[in-house]
Amino acid sequence: MDSYDVIIIGTGAGGGTLARHLAPSGKRILLLERGDWLPREPQNWSSLDVFVDNRYVSPDTWYDGDGKPFQPGVHYFVGGATKLYGAALYRLREQDFGELQHHDGVSPAWPISYDELEPYYTQAEQLYEVHGARGEDPTEPPASAPYPFPAVSHEPRIQQLSDDLAAAGYHPFHAPCGIRLNEASMPYSHCVRCPTCDGFPCLVHAKSDADVLGVRPALEHPNVKLLTNAMAVKLETNESGNEVTEVVVERNGETERFAGDIVVVSCGAANSAKLLLASANNSHPNGLANASDQVGRNYMFHDSVAVLALSHEPNTTIFQKTLGLNDFYFGSDGFEYPLGNIQMVGKSDAEMFRGERPRETKLAPEWTLARMALHSVDFWLSTEDLPRADNRVTIEADGNIKLSYSETNAEAKKQLYSKLKSMLGHLGMHSDHLFTRHAYMKNDIPVAGCAHQAGTCRFGDDPATSVLDRNCLAHQLDNLYVVDTSIFPSIGAVNPALTAMANALRVGDHVLERIGARTLTATT
Ligand SMILES: Cc1cc2nc3c(=O)[nH]c(=O)nc-3n(C[C@H](O)[C@H](O)[C@H](O)COP(=O)(O)OP(=O)(O)OC[C@H]3O[C@@H](n4cnc5c(N)ncnc54)[C@H](O)[C@@H]3O)c2cc1C
Ligand code: SF4
Repeated sequence: MDSYDVIIIGTGAGGGTLARHLAPSGKRILLLERGDWLPREPQNWSSLDVFVDNRYVSPDTWYDGDGKPFQPGVHYFVGGATKLYGAALYRLREQDFGELQHHDGVSPAWPISYDELEPYYTQAEQLYEVHGARGEDPTEPPASAPYPFPAVSHEPRIQQLSDDLAAAGYHPFHAPCGIRLNEASMPYSHCVRCPTCDGFPCLVHAKSDADVLGVRPALEHPNVKLLTNAMAVKLETNESGNEVTEVVVERNGETERFAGDIVVVSCGAANSAKLLLASANNSHPNGLANASDQVGRNYMFHDSVAVLALSHEPNTTIFQKTLGLNDFYFGSDGFEYPLGNIQMVGKSDAEMFRGERPRETKLAPEWTLARMALHSVDFWLSTEDLPRADNRVTIEADGNIKLSYSETNAEAKKQLYSKLKSMLGHLGMHSDHLFTRHAYMKNDIPVAGCAHQAGTCRFGDDPATSVLDRNCLAHQLDNLYVVDTSIFPSIGAVNPALTAMANALRVGDHVLERIGARTLTATT
């Protein structure tokens, strides 16, 4: 059996970032990824292939709480969900690390403060080449360095939106973007600023994803090995149950076993929980690291809604995801609880509507889909959903994931939607039309839109209420870590990837220290 110093299972925002951070240490590192490389092909940028035919959605079957099967919006590739993500790379707000009172209850505190994660946010922004402008967003937390790259410019319709918002007294800001765009010198730019970014793979590898900026740089080190199409199905422990001894993998129809001094699980929130639960043994009858019965619980994925407003003027924007608005993040006039974040989503086109069956178009019969697409201005509203013990991942008898979920904070989500709708008249848009879209979540089963999945293995100081300690080491196992979004005790209302990346760097420093390699390495 091959043995390694560190085995990392999953190569997305958490695992891919950790791999890059550990790679210069010279330690023997094995990356196990259940998916393959995402193929580079013209279809990467085809709305029809990506949004209508779901070309890159992996063929998994999960069940909802009522036992109804559905295909989740998951993407099993090197780089994980970041291959398809919108690369909006936000920091959580400083207050998100403390307890926050919401309409439906308390969003729990993290075991670490914002200050502890801050240096790693800065490092993650550098690693993932984030573009942004500090000082525009009033809710922005303090940062020890400027963004490494200037903000991505607004195109004229979005600049107009920004101006109109500012004139109405709001505080729009340039959204933090992980696209490798060099506007000062386009001949040298990796990114060509195209309309098919958010929800699409990047054909020219210019998106700051965990494949291009995590795994590939890690593989330049001869001590790092990647196995694709290698699905971890079980973790074995020693007799006393305090150490993972083997990772059992299914690859090319064969079962293989690998030993690692340290094993890091980073399969995404649902699949990490599944792996731990499926690894139950005599010492861990309820699943690994599950003495607290918290593995799989507290699943969150944001109360999100994609909406489309109709602009009086045509909206010819190509790359739309450049603007954010956090004026209602912590509340608004008449609603004292947090509402959430408003940002732009990728510009919709008529092909996407074909995939989305926009029933609401009946409300505007005079608008053809093509005309709607030309005039659409597309927003993404995110409200924090709260961790609930009953919102959880379990494993069905056939071995597939069951995802039981009841919505939380629906009132705050409704308020945020109403807030945007009430603003449209001031923003050069038809005030009577705000259509919901199914971007990222075409399926009729809402939990299928699991792009922002988190929770399920939360970290904390109390082993009775958490799965991992503050270093993201399992409370009951001496060599098992988790570094994906499953560690989140609460999710905030901004996109989760940068936080997973920053935390992976933080845990990476701890692992380097532990294996005696801290002084030898630095993320470059
Ligand atoms: C369409 C879309 C748009 C998004 N837009 C944004 C955005 O703009 N900003 C943002 O911050 N976030 C965005 N997200 C969310 C973001 O991509 C995720 O939060 C982030 O990638 C989660 O990182 P992770 O490490 O937890 O999981 P992932 O990135 O999903 O990585 C998990 C990896 O584990 C692998 N894996 C799973 N099970 C196994 C197993 N048993 N054995 C081996 N490998 C396994 C998977 O194949 C995958 O590669 C978006 C997601 C999607 C899908
Ligand atoms: S906008 Fe840039 S990063 Fe995004 S898909 Fe297009 S070329 Fe790639």
